[in-house]
Amino acid sequence: MEKSSQEKLMKRITLVVTHQCNFDCRYCLQKHEDVYMTKETAIKTIDTFAAGISEGDKAQISFYGGEPLLQKELIKELVNYSCEKILSIPNTKLTFEITTNGLLLDEDFIAFAKKNKILLALSHDGLAQDPVRTDRGGNMTKERVDQKLQMLLKTFPETIIMMTVHPDYVDRIAGSLKFFRSQGVKSVSMVLAHGERVTWDDEAFEKLEKEMLKVEALYEQWNAGNDVFRFIPFDNKIKNYIRQRDADSVMCHFGCHKLMVDTNGKYYPCSHFIGRDGFDIGSLEEGVNEEKLESLESKRVEPEDCRECDLRFRCRHTCACSNHGQTGSVSEVSALQCEYEKLTIRLADRAASLLLNESNPAFISRMYPN
Ligand code: SF4
Ligand code: SF4
Repeated sequence: MEKSSQEKLMKRITLVVTHQCNFDCRYCLQKHEDVYMTKETAIKTIDTFAAGISEGDKAQISFYGGEPLLQKELIKELVNYSCEKILSIPNTKLTFEITTNGLLLDEDFIAFAKKNKILLALSHDGLAQDPVRTDRGGNMTKERVDQKLQMLLKTFPETIIMMTVHPDYVDRIAGSLKFFRSQGVKSVSMVLAHGERVTWDDEAFEKLEKEMLKVEALYEQWNAGNDVFRFIPFDNKIKNYIRQRDADSVMCHFGCHKLMVDTNGKYYPCSHFIGRDGFDIGSLEEGVNEEKLESLESKRVEPEDCRECDLRFRCRHTCACSNHGQTGSVSEVSALQCEYEKLTIRLADRAASLLLNESNPAFISRMYPN
């Protein structure tokens, strides 16, 4: 195995600490078995990770599930252990990330996260939370998660919300953003639910177009003057344009930049592929399997339509997990994704042109940092 691939992969790592979840979201593609990463495997993962870190590196460790906070105590131990091991290497920086559904958050864990600079993102579907994201007992979760959101915002006012849109509740997008803003949230990321459990038809897409027009108006209104509201899909499209990045730099690199380590120590290129046959790229025992990695990379071919498209450097058409979830192929882009990308870029550009013409200071400094 070439050392460079292993080294590159091991600067950013995600530990899948459990497959189990306390939620039962209607679009979720995971199996939720009672499978947990053992402490032994977790420590071995951190040791392997630490061995690849050199002086001056920026390292990142994420914890993923299922619901990662079902392994709260293990996460705390691993954070402490990682800090001891990695921060003793001169000039290294180490950050942690967890995306949680929020139900198991408490003051103690939030204080721990603050002390250890853990970035906590909250998955919350806004006004669609109750019909889409029930707990394992089928009970609604919005009220309970809203309380956790308030708890989180007190310590982390910049908390990012990760919202997933179910096609049956598209007409709640703008209302959800209003709700989040009323709670004090300043950043919302949004993706469309995909996979075999959801169906996007023409009617749902028409509703999506109408909602996104409302989102554009809210984005313009909430970024007036010194106000700040980051709707991440718009922010990203605008930044892609300003920085004139080529397609490669917005590409999902599918295993080349971040490694997922499953509960059993197997390596995967991204969360969507965990446990899927033919997608593992090695293990703790063997390291990164260069042959498997290359074979996966070779399956990625940019579609002809995209190669000719003016929007290709701003579009997520290369996202292997999104493509696979929608079309069953890592390279084939669904018609829905293509239309959604075009729509998002068009609306983001219109909003940006208005905000830049108005010379809104907060927006300009966000888009053109120094
Ligand atoms: S919270 Fe996440 S892992 Fe759990 S059921 Fe929902 S989408 Fe799946
Ligand atoms: S907008 Fe459509 S055609 Fe253009 S790059 Fe994206 S997916 Fe491909």
